[in-house]
Amino acid sequence: MDAQQTPANLASLAPGRTCGTCMMCCKVLHVRDLDKPPGVWCGHATPGKGCGVYASKPQDCGDFWCGWMQDGALGPEWKPDRAKFLLASTGANTIVAVDPAFANAWRREPYESSIRRWAREGAARGRFVFVRIGRRCIALLPDGDKDLGDVGPQDDLAVSAAPGPAGAVWRVEVRRPG
Ligand code: SF4
Ligand code: SF4
Repeated sequence: MDAQQTPANLASLAPGRTCGTCMMCCKVLHVRDLDKPPGVWCGHATPGKGCGVYASKPQDCGDFWCGWMQDGALGPEWKPDRAKFLLASTGANTIVAVDPAFANAWRREPYESSIRRWAREGAARGRFVFVRIGRRCIALLPDGDKDLGDVGPQDDLAVSAAPGPAGAVWRVEVRRPG
């Protein structure tokens, strides 16, 4: 999966958190080892029931825990199968990976206010929030949302700011491999 937690984070699961019947990560994330695109169900998944190759699932799958599993401050409404999106980290950045069947789920409250606050506070420290809906990517930046369109799982995103007449002007460069 392209939004990975580090092994160090695996020790930080919030007490009492379990996935239950949630399998949101098996739909919204890219799984590198299976060449599974983001935003579609993995061919091994039976939604609500489990993984058909659980014992031999890719390492990526075994290592992944979403933000809700790790952050006890996120209430039950943030559980991915209820929210219809999951939170994950790529480096310093936060990914909001949304189920394409509920593309505007992140815009509902109480979610959008929190997500935009994280984006606002993070930008000042060089940490950015990207909403991913399948391959579509939207950067939430201090001067507005930038819809970057189709961004592949292997593409890098470089955010920069330059002085403008009415404050900083933010831009995102999509760096494609090769
Ligand atoms: S999205 Fe989170 S809660 Fe849902 S199955 Fe994946 S790790 Fe578990
Ligand atoms: S291999 Fe299993 S755990 Fe991994 S994405 Fe597919 S269904 Fe989910």
